[in-house]
Amino acid sequence: MGLGSARRTVLVTGAAGFLGSHLVDRLLADGFEVVGLDNLMTGDLTNLAAAARDPHFHLEIGDVRETLHVYAEIIFNMACPASPVHYQADPYATLTSSMLGALRLAEHARQRRCRIVHASTSEVYGDPLVHPQTEDYWGHVNPIGERSCYDEGKRVAETILMDARRHDKADTRIIRIFNTYGPRMAFHDGRVVSNFIIQSIQNEPITIYGDGSQSRSFCYVDDLIEGFIRTARADTFDSPVNLGNPDEFTMLELAEMVMEVAGRRVELVKKPLPPDDPKRRRPDITKAKKLLGFELTVPLKVGVARTYEDFKQRIAASTP
Ligand code: UDP
Repeated sequence: MGLGSARRTVLVTGAAGFLGSHLVDRLLADGFEVVGLDNLMTGDLTNLAAAARDPHFHLEIGDVRETLHVYAEIIFNMACPASPVHYQADPYATLTSSMLGALRLAEHARQRRCRIVHASTSEVYGDPLVHPQTEDYWGHVNPIGERSCYDEGKRVAETILMDARRHDKADTRIIRIFNTYGPRMAFHDGRVVSNFIIQSIQNEPITIYGDGSQSRSFCYVDDLIEGFIRTARADTFDSPVNLGNPDEFTMLELAEMVMEVAGRRVELVKKPLPPDDPKRRRPDITKAKKLLGFELTVPLKVGVARTYEDFKQRIAASTP
């Protein structure tokens, strides 16, 4: 099953989300018939404005936790609230979106022999004790904390999809996404990149949680989506693969970069560090490079500048 021939049907769950909508656009540009599924819990239909004008896009309002009635050769499972603010607002829905979603998809893959490309997360490594994180690291995860509904949901989803692979020969492929940013990030989801950009556009203080020395590595959305396409297209794919950018930045460095892009300085204010906030996170992407030929093409400053422009336009459009 290649991903090169036109008008094959693919399904994207979580299609109205940040990553889901970028994936939809890319699949339409590549000539697929794309069905998008979203329950609009955190998704936003404006993300699908371009896709909605394409006759090869079909939107279903529905829930990945329920039986799927769509047949697609490939299913990209992007459905789950992903930012702490959203996933902690309804922990049960977060956990069940991952867990029941994976069960439904595993059933589907078994019965219909379709390919599943599942969006997992670097959160399966928790607050890691190993740097950078390789795929064989089992993680350091709190099972009962505020982040657990997301972290443990994503971990059990991996278990379900790997069991489907081992026991039923289902074609399930797991990607562990590290911090990703870009145009269309939601305004109020509290992510660091979007917060810093909005604060600098609005000339408000930038909020640094803790002392700002914690690090993350940020991947521009187009690079990540390319990794998803390569995953779907790969001849062999056995076990989870990290996708992200291995360049590591502290939150203070990120704040400086955003201010440079904005062309003005604002005050930095310190706020308490949220519970279980990982101190460092950086992917080892050796496996993705070898297996998928995955490469990073957008440096952080370029990506931040594009994201800044997108936020500026959306903020202007939403201001009366
Ligand atoms: N963070 C921050 N200021 C903000 C929002 C987040 O300093 O306004 C920090 C947060 O504590 C974390 C890092 O930025 O250490 C990344 O946070 P985000 O929620 O974007 O991603 P995650 O913690 O899930 O990696």
